[in-house]
Amino acid sequence: MDQVLILATAAAALAVIAATLSILRRERLRTPHDSPFAASTEGSVRCPTCGMGNPNTERKCIACGARLSG
Ligand SMILES: [Zn+2]
Repeated sequence: MDQVLILATAAAALAVIAATLSILRRERLRTPHDSPFAASTEGSVRCPTCGMGNPNTERKCIACGARLSG
């Protein structure tokens, strides 16, 4: 009885680990091979003061209110 419970728990744990690994692998595949030093993504402008990424439609930083260039 106890052994069955242990086996069931182990099987459930393995399933969780397998699911986590497959999710992680998918995330890695989806990540584009960009430069690790990318300063800003397309369509957004990074605040020179605090580094917050803002939509490029914003004139001022949404985090600290500093003026954004460009
Ligand atoms: Zn800012």
